[in-house]
Amino acid sequence: MTAIDRIVLASGNAGKVREINKLFAGCGIEVVPQSDFNVPEIAETGTTFVENAIIKARQAAEITGLPAIADDSGIEVDALHARPGVWSARYAGENANDQDNNNKMIEELEGVPEAERTARYQCLIVFMRDHTDPVPIITQGSWEGRILQAPRGEGGFGYDPIFYVPTHDCSGGELPLEVKNTISHRAIALNAMLEEFRKHKYI
Ligand code: IMP
Repeated sequence: MTAIDRIVLASGNAGKVREINKLFAGCGIEVVPQSDFNVPEIAETGTTFVENAIIKARQAAEITGLPAIADDSGIEVDALHARPGVWSARYAGENANDQDNNNKMIEELEGVPEAERTARYQCLIVFMRDHTDPVPIITQGSWEGRILQAPRGEGGFGYDPIFYVPTHDCSGGELPLEVKNTISHRAIALNAMLEEFRKHKYI
């Protein structure tokens, strides 16, 4: 199998591009954001993380002609029966921002005791060699924590300020980015993808 040296990332999120590039550059792969090719954002109409990641990767591969990688992620809260899941970005409404989402979660979990506030981030990553690839490579990572009663810390994004990380006794918002990027759901899924690339002799 021939080596892969360039991949389009089906995301315009600068933080994700930086994180993935840092990890993949060490393996000789350049990761280019789809915005460099004017690939538009596509509606995430799936009901699973994997469907949404495939929708994004397929479009990016089709428009650019490059192999494509896409991730889809979200948070599952046990007391909310795994909600908001794939709807994490839109939890408090279609145009909700991170603060709206965090406030809604704190409200919904009001009165729920510490031990029942367990939650986890999920990340699914899909790699498609081209847009017709019938066997995309799929990897997954999850990161366990608990939902706090009030936000802590200014770092991270999304639910990080209300996501307590027991292994480090702080919130995701208090965790230095370089630490988060070695233990997060996305880091686990990305490292698993690199492992798959090694198995396939792409790197
Ligand atoms: P997407 O994968 O970019 O569609 O992200 C879905 C949503 O999940 C984000 O908008 C955040 O609300 C949440 N999320 C995913 N990963 C993280 C993370 O590492 N920290 C905080 N929130 C996250």
